[in-house]
Amino acid sequence: MLEKLLKSKKCFKLVLGAGNEDTKSIEKLMKVYYEAGCRFFDLCMDENVAQKAKEICPDAILCFSYGIKDDPHTVKAQINPSKCTGCLNCEETCIQNAIKNGCIDEQKCLGCQKCVSACHNKAIQTYSKTKNLKEILPKILPYKPQCIELHAISDNDTEVENNWNYISENYNGIISLCVDRSIIGDKGVIKRIKKLIEKRKPYTTIIQADGNPMSGGKDDWQTTLQSVAMAEIIQKNNLPVYLLLSGGTNSKTKELANLCNIDLNGISIGSYARKIVKPYIEQENFLENKELFNQAVKIAKELINSTYV
Ligand code: SF4
Ligand code: SF4
Repeated sequence: MLEKLLKSKKCFKLVLGAGNEDTKSIEKLMKVYYEAGCRFFDLCMDENVAQKAKEICPDAILCFSYGIKDDPHTVKAQINPSKCTGCLNCEETCIQNAIKNGCIDEQKCLGCQKCVSACHNKAIQTYSKTKNLKEILPKILPYKPQCIELHAISDNDTEVENNWNYISENYNGIISLCVDRSIIGDKGVIKRIKKLIEKRKPYTTIIQADGNPMSGGKDDWQTTLQSVAMAEIIQKNNLPVYLLLSGGTNSKTKELANLCNIDLNGISIGSYARKIVKPYIEQENFLENKELFNQAVKIAKELINSTYV
């Protein structure tokens, strides 16, 4: 089913967040986007999340994401109370509503670091929260994922390869590698991809070309530019992989990719997809209120349709 979707070149993936363990928001987002036509969901590699996702959309295509140490998707934020003046800038900035009363809810925090930039007192630090892949992967496999994603934005080749090899040896489905060029540069990215796909069959790997991870708050050309540029670098190398775009993706991404002659299999959207339905899903009794729910679905549908142009 996933291969068919990728081959259709109209693959839309909703990214719920590699670090998002907040099952309440996951439920609302999955229900809205499923109703709007999305069938492919990218979730945190966590047992509770997997169980919930299977309950919500039993026939959806599930991808579980794992981030290696220091990859931006494993980052969590923390407030130092001794430096905090209680100005609430961070609370207002956090799209996840993860900050309340001077504390950050680790389960909700995605590590986007927008709060860090918003704090003029340097009161917010970050840390990397990683899981043990050998412990978590066997717990996820019974939920029959159709894709496992490795977030590998790091210069630690050994760490990347060890995790990749473990997934390859223990999982038979499609594996997605999420990479950007911020740390290892254009040549480094291609070298890494070639090495990792060497022993895999052609078209059993997705390369998720990440522009600026978790940067997709705005719906403009600039925000999505890096994701398209990253895709262009991958495409030039003519690799036997499926190509998805992420990291700053929005309703302009497909149009820009078309203008640049990028032949995509699909687009993964996280921050922007979550942001546009946020005013609706935050309201009380959202799931029971048909009118509100349908308004959110309409907005989600427009975004999905923008990736089909
Ligand atoms: S922005 Fe900084 S100082 Fe203001 S409430 Fe947040 S952590 Fe405290
Ligand atoms: S702004 Fe981003 S990093 Fe900060 S608490 Fe919210 S989700 Fe976490």
